Amino acid sequence: MTSPCPTLLSPLDLGFTTLRNRVLMGSMHTGLEDNPEDFGKLAAYFAERARGGAGLMITGGIAPNREGCLAPASGKLTDPEEVEHHRRITAAVHDAGGRICMQILHAGRYAEHDAAVAPSALRSAITRFRPRELSGAEVEDQVRDFVRCARLAQEAGYDGVEVMGSEGYFVNQFLVTRTNRRTDAWGGSDENRKRFPLAVVRGIRKAVGRAFILIFRLSMLDLVENASDWNEVVMLARALEDAGATLLNSGIGWHEARIPTIGSMVPRGAFTWVTRRLKREVGLPLITTNRINTPDLAERILARGDADMVCLARPLLADPDFVVKAAEGRGDEINTCIACNQACLDHVFENKRVTCLVNPRACHETELVIRPAAKKKRIAVVGAGPAGLACATVLADRGHTVDLFEAEEEIGGQLNMARRIPGKEEWGETLRYFRRRLAMTGVRVHLGQRVDADDLRGGGHDEVVLASGVVPRVPDIPGMDHETVLSYVDVLAYGKPVGDAVAVVGAGGIGFDVAGFLTGPRPAAGPDLDRFLAEWGVDRTLRSRGGLLEGRPAIEASPRRVILLQRKAEKHGKSLGRTTGWIHRMQLRRRGVEMVSGVSYGAIDDRGLHITVNGEARVLEVDHIVICAGQESRPDWSPDLQGVNRIGGVASVDGLDARRAIAGGWRLGMAL
Ligand code: FAD
Ligand code: NAP
Ligand code: SF4
Repeated sequence: MTSPCPTLLSPLDLGFTTLRNRVLMGSMHTGLEDNPEDFGKLAAYFAERARGGAGLMITGGIAPNREGCLAPASGKLTDPEEVEHHRRITAAVHDAGGRICMQILHAGRYAEHDAAVAPSALRSAITRFRPRELSGAEVEDQVRDFVRCARLAQEAGYDGVEVMGSEGYFVNQFLVTRTNRRTDAWGGSDENRKRFPLAVVRGIRKAVGRAFILIFRLSMLDLVENASDWNEVVMLARALEDAGATLLNSGIGWHEARIPTIGSMVPRGAFTWVTRRLKREVGLPLITTNRINTPDLAERILARGDADMVCLARPLLADPDFVVKAAEGRGDEINTCIACNQACLDHVFENKRVTCLVNPRACHETELVIRPAAKKKRIAVVGAGPAGLACATVLADRGHTVDLFEAEEEIGGQLNMARRIPGKEEWGETLRYFRRRLAMTGVRVHLGQRVDADDLRGGGHDEVVLASGVVPRVPDIPGMDHETVLSYVDVLAYGKPVGDAVAVVGAGGIGFDVAGFLTGPRPAAGPDLDRFLAEWGVDRTLRSRGGLLEGRPAIEASPRRVILLQRKAEKHGKSLGRTTGWIHRMQLRRRGVEMVSGVSYGAIDDRGLHITVNGEARVLEVDHIVICAGQESRPDWSPDLQGVNRIGGVASVDGLDARRAIAGGWRLGMAL
């Protein structure tokens, strides 16, 4: 059989060693690397992905010294005693047939502690601590620490190291005048600013010998002001090649950049053109990255010559078997990363262990193990939203006979509304995945069947799982029955027409999504790279420093007037994810959405929506009022039934989202 992804799956010869394919699992902090007691879990996590076929993997960032740690207790590799812990990881990966590099990450001014150091004492806009400026001699110590760290990684059995030289971390901070104001040999001219990364790479290469992979993650597009220009990027890449790097990985955007680079609103493969530009300039193999989440896309990127390897990070969190499935022509079985960041990056910022919204097993490989059921049962699952889908498929995997009842003609529940929001189309992949899983696990799916207690009583089921979700909350505002009032379900599910002036009541996740839907590109238009780059001010010609377009981004205010209202006095969008909330806020502001906080709702009548803000009465003369005031559990008709279990929204709306719904479905599926 010919491979469906011949380029992706072809080996990559690095001279002294050959990688089995072109898939690199990029570095992701999981929270497990910070404590050696968790290294057993970390080893299982990597081993599963090695068995799943990744050509090479990179660990989360490990600091080369205490001051380089991201947080006071982050993982570091500075002492020979720590080597033994890391051997558990490398042994597990090698036994599973994989290869793994350790990422050396020095946080510099991004460190969240008072020992932070940097080329210059300049605090970043996204951290609390001002770093201490290093003396010239101390900079030399830092080089030695990087080299020591790489040597220890080699002793621990890693196949190589990646030096984190992008995203605005310490190494990157030396490269640009934005963060390097030094006047000694480590700052000033371009030559001097390059000195630190080159000293690190030369030092490591000398210490580890020829046959050790040395990846440098190079910031190809900083997306901040006073950053590298393209010529400096090219010159650095060539110098890194001479200094002994084996591979160059692409870095896109500093963490402090105000341009989204990996969120779901970023079109797939949006930045591979940057890597392609560098390919003309250097001989080293290049790795490209960001929003590559399907084998077909990865194959196209490599086949057209944008890079020699693709870096997939979150997609392998979502599905450890991504490569094996691609190789066996089972791409439709892949659990696709939808770029939501909700359970991976957002968890990092909340100091929680990382996992994945669509795959709760990620980073819990030793804990969430699907085992055959001791007693096979007949189980009815009511509702094919994310909770019901996850539960039904896990139950069937374990050998139970499962009937899944869904009132609508399609599976997905509220995800069918979510996927209609521009920038959230990836939810469609989750539904494709579940459709395939239902077929593969043999769940008996009954669409268009709204069931109740009478239908289930005496139906021969040993257990009932109620996953019937939620209903929209109806706020107590006089005039709610006025013809101008719509619910988000009317707009998103039933496509009811909406006028040119709209008030949105409620600014939670759904209020934001509805405002985005009403002011964004037509949903049918789909993701458009040129529009995205123009909207966010990215210079595709690479003529300007940092890749930022000069002047204001070419964003057009929406012709529709939208007012987004909430009762709380706080800033809008506080409940949204840390890594994506700012994007949604910025996008809506640029489209001209008016955000009003501290609102008291008066009444709705022919004039519009009457509100009071800071004691001042206003009438919003709008064509429609769209209610997005949260949700309530769907009324439960099952109390008198035996053996009923509740998951997802019908169990509780407290903290409910798709992540909680899927994880809850999984856990019950494993327990029955
Ligand atoms: P639901 O999705 O509500 O599914 C319940 C299902 O049960 C429905 O299909 C319903 O038809 C069926 N049902 C009900 N009663 C019966 C019956 N008697 N018989 C048979 N079938 C029945 N969450 C996130 O985490 N991230 C997001 O980005 C996100 N975006 C969203 C955007 C929008 C526009 C919306 C509306 C929601 C979004 N959510 C998001 C929320 C998320 O979709 C919900 O939290 C999640 O779907 C709840 O899952 P559930 O399975 O409990 O219920
Ligand atoms: P939500 O986040 O709880 O927001 C409800 C909004 O309605 C709030 O702004 C609230 O603000 C307002 N509200 C509540 N009761 C009200 C009342 N009686 N009258 C008027 N306003 C009222 O819920 P949601 O937007 O419905 O979202 C449901 C779930 O889906 C949430 O868990 C959410 O996280 C998830 N979701 C996530 C995303 C995402 O991108 N991650 C997107 C969509 C949905 P005030 O009380 O201040 O008015
Ligand atoms: Fe992808 Fe979301 Fe899973 Fe993160 S949580 S890996 S972004 S699907």
